[in-house]
Amino acid sequence: MKTIIEPFRIKSVEPIRFTSKEERIKILENAGYNPFLIHADDVLIDLLTDSGTSAMSAKQWAGMMDGDESYAGSRSFYKFEETVRKITGDKYIIPTHQGRAAEKILFFIVGGEGKFIPNNTHFDTTRANIEFTNAEAVDLLVEIGKHPEQRADFKGNMDVDALEKFIIEKGSENIPLVMITITNNSGGGQPVSMQNIREVKQICSKYGLPLFLDACRFAENAYFIKMREKGYKDKSIPEICREMFSYADGATMSAKKDALVNIGGFLSLNDDELAMKCRNMLIVTEGFPTYGGLAGRDLEAVAQGLEEVMDEHYLQYRIRSTEYLGEKMIDAGIPIIEPPGGHAIYIDAKRFLPDVLPDKYPGQSIVCELYIEGGVRAVEIGSLMFGKYDKKTGRLISPPMELVRLAIPRRVYTQSHIDYVAEVIIEVFKNRDKLSGYEILYEAPILRHFTARFKKLS
Ligand SMILES: *Cc1c(COP(=O)(O)O)cnc(C)c1O
Repeated sequence: MKTIIEPFRIKSVEPIRFTSKEERIKILENAGYNPFLIHADDVLIDLLTDSGTSAMSAKQWAGMMDGDESYAGSRSFYKFEETVRKITGDKYIIPTHQGRAAEKILFFIVGGEGKFIPNNTHFDTTRANIEFTNAEAVDLLVEIGKHPEQRADFKGNMDVDALEKFIIEKGSENIPLVMITITNNSGGGQPVSMQNIREVKQICSKYGLPLFLDACRFAENAYFIKMREKGYKDKSIPEICREMFSYADGATMSAKKDALVNIGGFLSLNDDELAMKCRNMLIVTEGFPTYGGLAGRDLEAVAQGLEEVMDEHYLQYRIRSTEYLGEKMIDAGIPIIEPPGGHAIYIDAKRFLPDVLPDKYPGQSIVCELYIEGGVRAVEIGSLMFGKYDKKTGRLISPPMELVRLAIPRRVYTQSHIDYVAEVIIEVFKNRDKLSGYEILYEAPILRHFTARFKKLS
């Protein structure tokens, strides 16, 4: 088989700025050893997130020029609506400025005290929007999904038996809807199988509950189904997408992921009464239902992006480029979550730096060293992001895993950029004996990872 190439050529380029190692040591020190506080111009390869960082196509930019900025009834809205409806098959398509706005509207209406929302794994904004209404967000991931070193095809699946038990225990009247996140972002971008979606739907039907998809990476999930699930090899991606959505009664989506745009999102649903309530809420918080917090040009870019993301050459390149980085890590003996997911590689910091204990933030230590070694920006997902303090003893309670995420922006970096990233990580891995832990000097009471400042321990 020949090399899988980037399925595009480059028409417009954006220079990246080189810095010396000495400069980066100073920059990081000034940022309190927190890469969130570094000026993006001082980053060479930015793998902080795949959200809103996609490169748009010439057709998307052409669509931007063609956007209709009418307040009501914009032509761009109708194009957007038609494109989304072709994928989800739903009656009501409601644009929002990003994914969390769709979540906020939905859960403001169906959430509230005493309610429970099950999911394979809730993304953090979804959980936050549910908890904000005093409802409870519950993760029911299959057991294999919790073991980073074990390989399986669909580690994002929901535990169907646990779901049924949970519905019986809490009472279906207290569960307004069930959600499945495709792919499972918080679980490492691991896919969910069609069979699992179908089985969850059967349970939902049995108890009269609606099923919603958190569809941020629906096309990446569809590609995994095509590659890995029996009976889907010869189906087209749009066909697989239609089948996935056919089991759902609605969906929320951040267009900043698989719609290949820098801003946008939507809520898609079938229920007449719920849709009316959502639209009324939308008018209060986002805008009129034919623009929902976006410009007409944004709706054009989303519509075009949704067509492009289902292209098989694009998806083959996309999934392969993540896997390519993962293979280089595995070949060098670097511990990662296996197999690689769709949008990111997760380094297992506990196995990478066994001598730096969780309360000395091993993930942050790797993140800092990646920046110093090569100007690569990654993010810690471990004790810094999710650690909590014991109210009595004041001791840090760490989450089960200490990870470093390298998220791959869509259509942005070439194979040699990724080769370079691998070289940087391998160099850091070779010198891991010299890495030390960190101590927090300043932290905010919530979401501390964004603004915390550190001291390097010797
Ligand atoms: C990004 C994301 C969201 C939230 O979307 P925003 O556009 O960032 O508000 C929700 N769910 C998942 C799975 C995501 O990846």
